[in-house]
Amino acid sequence: MWRYREVLPVRGRPVSLGEGPTPLLPAPRLSERFGAAVLVKDDGPLPSGTFKARGAAAGLSRVAELGATSVVMPSAGNAGAAWALYSARAGIPLTVTMARTAPEANKQEVRLAGAELVEVDGTIADAARRAREISSSTGAFLAATFAEPYRVEGKKSAWLECFDQLGDESAMRLPGTVIAPVGGGVAAVACLKAAWEVVELGWAEGPPPVIVGVQSEECAPIVRAFDTGADAPEPWEERQQTIAAGLRVPAPSEGDLVLRTVRATGGAMVAVSDDAIRSAAAELATAEGLLVCPEGAAALAALTSLGELRGPVVLYNTGAAGKYLDALAP
Ligand SMILES: *Cc1c(COP(=O)(O)O)cnc(C)c1O
Repeated sequence: MWRYREVLPVRGRPVSLGEGPTPLLPAPRLSERFGAAVLVKDDGPLPSGTFKARGAAAGLSRVAELGATSVVMPSAGNAGAAWALYSARAGIPLTVTMARTAPEANKQEVRLAGAELVEVDGTIADAARRAREISSSTGAFLAATFAEPYRVEGKKSAWLECFDQLGDESAMRLPGTVIAPVGGGVAAVACLKAAWEVVELGWAEGPPPVIVGVQSEECAPIVRAFDTGADAPEPWEERQQTIAAGLRVPAPSEGDLVLRTVRATGGAMVAVSDDAIRSAAAELATAEGLLVCPEGAAALAALTSLGELRGPVVLYNTGAAGKYLDALAP
């Protein structure tokens, strides 16, 4: 991702574990089925196994430059795992707050990397409250989603790579449609920012991609707001037991920004069921040989429910399947 350092916020030597480039893979059988070019931007191969590595690399690099001596963050699971590895790499102590119900694999990753894990009763919203308390009582840098500007910058690199991979030697090319899973919504927001920037720089032409955000039916606060025409989501109080653990964000802090993002591109917010996620994961594996995480499979599940789309269509697989194989068993 440091190939794009001129449009990233880090000035000095980055804290790096070798993040990208990751493949942009054509999906010929899906393309035939949907009558448009379908490709998968596969961030499974990143350090820690999810695209959270991009945000953590940019975030910890910048935190180190700013001279912060400790960091605290709430996480649904994968962000904590990525930030734990990068904080170990940077030598900056990290505390991660997580709901007790967060995936065991993620808790174990945090502990293995030597970060402090604070488990809280409730949801990620309660973990976020705890992280803010720890930050104000200890002075630790608060790295909650959208509380600092760096992780969205890091996640932007997935899209810079994608536009580069779609293009040729002379120019980048913007996809017609991007379908991305939405928890906090950083990936979706980063996509539009990346598109605006490359057009402004003259690296690509044309309108930004239509951005479709996908949530789980089990936790769909931004979809509900999109459907009712609201400016911001209300917290999701219903149960939220989806296998797509990265999408268990019942009260996204910048849900209004996510809504503005998809609406600005003529996109939409779509909710999918766990059954649809499992079928989509199986289809990607059998038809294209791609083993994806449930959040990435959700993007294909959403594609199935959408009408005609502007191609090429990029499905964003945000992580590797390994942490979730049991949940994905058909
Ligand atoms: C965090 C996460 C998401 C959601 O990403 P946001 O940028 O927070 O919307 C999707 N997939 C996986 C695997 C994640 O870890």
